[in-house]
Parts: sequence; structure tokens; C-alpha cells
Amino acid sequence: MRLLLASSNPHKIQEVRAIMRPHGIEVIGLDALRDQPPEAVEDGRTFQDNARIKAVHYAKATGRLCLADDSGLEVDALGGEPGVRSARYVGASGTRAERDAANNTKLLAQLRGVPTGRRTARFVCAMCLADKNGTVIAETRGAFEGVIADTPRGSNGFGYDPLLYLPDVGCTSAQLTPHQKNARSHRGEAARKMAEKVAQLQSVGSLGVQQNSRTHARPDPS
Ligand code: IMP
Repeated sequence: MRLLLASSNPHKIQEVRAIMRPHGIEVIGLDALRDQPPEAVEDGRTFQDNARIKAVHYAKATGRLCLADDSGLEVDALGGEPGVRSARYVGASGTRAERDAANNTKLLAQLRGVPTGRRTARFVCAMCLADKNGTVIAETRGAFEGVIADTPRGSNGFGYDPLLYLPDVGCTSAQLTPHQKNARSHRGEAARKMAEKVAQLQSVGSLGVQQNSRTHARPDPS
């Protein structure tokens, strides 16, 4: 089966595609669409809110089964910031790479003087699957725990990967291979749970039925 991932972030698309492929699910990103739908307004207060907003918006706009990922970094010493503002911690200008670098610089400045023991943080990912009518049919969540390093290290991944230090392996998320990152990341956890839910829905034949129904209740994320 084929799922549209409501993202144009090539790193995210690549990660979700690699995780879903072994489950027989082909993932395409927004960039693969011939007609680009209008952008969703991500004004939710939580990752779960924004994942729902994106999944419902792009499912209705394209008439396709649509998966959305909303993710970000929660830093305990900053009261959970940058949270849902992770992508635009420094604002919206510049290229994705420029914003990533500036976000990392700002985060290090905010944490200057904070000792290692108080630099705990996690990436969080909320995923939502909506059918073509805009009905939410599955939701999942994943987390990836670490500590914010003093300096960026590694060049794999994207965003804050060079700053999330993993004490058990002695490197940052950006020093993991894509396969290693997917095996333990927030997105890997959420996507594997989602693949299981999709398989269950498919096995009882309810995915097709729900694509034409608005009666299904919103499930709790797990
Ligand atoms: P979104 O596209 O609105 O979900 O924003 C996600 C933002 O959170 C990204 O731009 C990154 O700044 C950060 N983020 C989410 N997942 C990751 C990850 O796996 N590695 C590094 N940064 C991430």
C-alpha cells in the first residue's frame, strides 16, 4: 500500500520510508505530488495537535490516505522548549540548513552554564493517519532520550541531531548511521507502531471502509 507523508523535509521522508518499507508500506512525500496543495496552518499547542492538523488537511486536500509526523525537541532545563517551535526556534527565514544551524547555536546559548546533569532532553514524534474524508484513523507517539551536548558533533541526520548526545553509546544522534538512528529514534518508534496499526486495520478490512466513513472514533495515541 502507498501512504502520503505530509512533509517536504527530505530527511523525514527518507527516515519514514526506510522504517515503513519492511512492513510493505510505500511512503511518498508532498514533493511527489503533481499539484501542490495549500500549506496546512500548524497552530496546535502540542505535537499531537499539529500531526492531526497536517494529516487531516492534506488527506482532504489530496483525497488520499495521509500520514503526518510532527516532531521536535523538549529540553527539561528550558521547560520543554523549543517544543512545537523546534523547526523555527530562530524564526522562519533562510534555508532549512541555515535554520538548523542557527537553531543549534541558539539552543547552546540558552543552555550556557547549565551542567551536564541538567541538560536532559528528548526528541518527540507524534504521528497521525487520516483518511481521504479527513477522519483520524490512527495515532502513535515515540520519544528519543538524550542530553544536550556542549558542541555539535556529527554530520548525519538533520535539525538538532548534532546536539542530542546519547550517553549509552557515547555519541550524538548525528554520529549514528541512518539505520542505527531509525532503530532507536522517536520517529522510528512512532512509525513502527503506526505500521502495526495499519496492518491491523488492513487485516480486518477496515482501512477501506474507514476511508469512506466519518463514524470512527478518534483513538488514543499509544
Ligand atoms: P516539524 O517539521 O514541524 O515536525 O518540525 C520538526 C523540527 O524538530 C525539525 O525541523 C527539527 O528542528 C526538530 N526535529 C524533529 N525530529 C528531529 C530529528 O530526528 N533530529 C533532529 N531534529 C529533529
